[in-house]
Amino acid sequence: MLLEKTLNNPYAHNYQLLIKNILNAPIYFDPTQEIVYRGDKRFTYATFKKRVHKLAHMLSALGVRKGDTVAVMDYDSHRYLECYFAIPMLGAILHTINIRLSPEQILYTIDHAEDDVILAHTDFLPLLEQIKGRLDVEHFIVLSDDEKILPTSLHVKGEYEALIENQPDFFDFPDFDENTRATTFYTTGTTGFPKGVYFTHRQLVLHTLGALSTLGSAPHQGNFRQGDVYMPITPMFHVHAWGLPYVATMLGVKQVYPGRYIPDLLLELIAKERVTFSHCVPTIMHMLFNSPKINEVDLRGWKVMIGGAALPKAMCQEALKRGIDMFTGYGMSETCPILSIAQLTPEMLDLNEDAQSDIRIKTGRPMGLVEIQVVDETMRPLLHDGAHSGEIVVRSPWLTQGYFKDQKNSEILWQGGYLHTGDIATMDEKGYIKITDRMKDIIKVGGEWVSSLELEDIINRHPSVKEVAVIGIDDEKWGERPLALVVKDATKSLSDKALLLHAKEFINKGIMARESMLLKIKFVESIDKTSIGKVNKKELRHKYTH
Ligand code: AMP
Repeated sequence: MLLEKTLNNPYAHNYQLLIKNILNAPIYFDPTQEIVYRGDKRFTYATFKKRVHKLAHMLSALGVRKGDTVAVMDYDSHRYLECYFAIPMLGAILHTINIRLSPEQILYTIDHAEDDVILAHTDFLPLLEQIKGRLDVEHFIVLSDDEKILPTSLHVKGEYEALIENQPDFFDFPDFDENTRATTFYTTGTTGFPKGVYFTHRQLVLHTLGALSTLGSAPHQGNFRQGDVYMPITPMFHVHAWGLPYVATMLGVKQVYPGRYIPDLLLELIAKERVTFSHCVPTIMHMLFNSPKINEVDLRGWKVMIGGAALPKAMCQEALKRGIDMFTGYGMSETCPILSIAQLTPEMLDLNEDAQSDIRIKTGRPMGLVEIQVVDETMRPLLHDGAHSGEIVVRSPWLTQGYFKDQKNSEILWQGGYLHTGDIATMDEKGYIKITDRMKDIIKVGGEWVSSLELEDIINRHPSVKEVAVIGIDDEKWGERPLALVVKDATKSLSDKALLLHAKEFINKGIMARESMLLKIKFVESIDKTSIGKVNKKELRHKYTH
């Protein structure tokens, strides 16, 4: 009885896990710490906080209320970070628009999310002009690096800086239920129209804490801590830039936002601002490694989490040679996103570079609070022996509860009470998962599974190969067989026979199904990509399977 009374004390504050609370600690730690945009604009955390409050006043004066949706179209910027906070702190929903989608897809997502206001960088105004007749949006606000608005036929309210300048710098943000929706965005990783996923305040705060528990506690490598300098190189429209801007803010570290990704500028910022922690997809890392400027920059001590696709071993080895602490992170749009991280255990630090790379390119171990199961078709968990492979299904506090306004696909996503990733993996006795394929990409040859990712990895190791994608093509005898679409390095010669010989040598030495030998090679000019730069296997299958 006494205990119950204590638990229900009406005088106690019922603390909700709200995004506004992430902003508390860094202001105590060091309000003079910097947030930098493209190396030109610098703000302290104290100013950042004021700008968040001013932005809230400006939106509120436009009529934005709890439950409304405010969309952003921008490159990675300090303004985007301000929106990450101010919009959800008002109780409104931040829609991060994928700027690489086609105008029709963008129109679909704006309509579907029911956006009320759009904040758009000047570069995207022509795109919005193309679809403006069909847009049902109340206000447009322009984001501009030089604070100017170019002539536009859109009915714009004004420019961001001018609109926030004279607003009061304190807004009394309300408390509300932590289960209030805070963010939404659209994934194209499935068939059909883009699908909206959504996350609450509670989920984003817990994801921040979960990421901190794993990244902040790693003793020797693969960590993100106070004293680091943070620069994202994954777009802020894609899964909250993996949630790491919230982590960086909670840590109170210096943050550097690079704007549009220009390889030379990214390298310049890493050097000038002494960036120590970033994250990106392999395609971007590849772009940086191929930039002539790379050899002018000392990258030792730079920690880079690679995700969105498997980290190729050759890339990891090149990174280690340059003194970069590179490791894998894994997740998906539906999962907020981070589920696992490939950090080394202390005893693994003694391993040589090659053996270390084998761990770093694994898909990682589950992050704090994440339950990962690798299951067979009947949802039975498989042995943690690094050999049995099945689908990754997950539970954690930060998974989307469904697809927005899409009951049917929401049910499919959560069949059996676990979120289905559609990724095929093994888990070993130390809890490291290793994705071997996506369910849709896996190739079944004569009843055996062949991993397209492993074949790609092998073919990629040939010095004359620039790019490769392996898909399954229909085959009368085998059901399916693997086809490698290969872009050659234009400066070198390569025949399909030589490449097959190379692949077969590796297949023979490796532990792959012998059916992998049925590989076919086709040289192509280029490989189709999705809007976020991933190989578009759906399109490739469509093009080459008939
Ligand atoms: P998206 O929702 O577009 O972020 O895509 C998520 C999908 O990307 C996952 O389901 C995986 O298939 C793939 N993916 C993400 N991270 C990794 C990784 N570290 N290794 C292999 N595949 C990955």
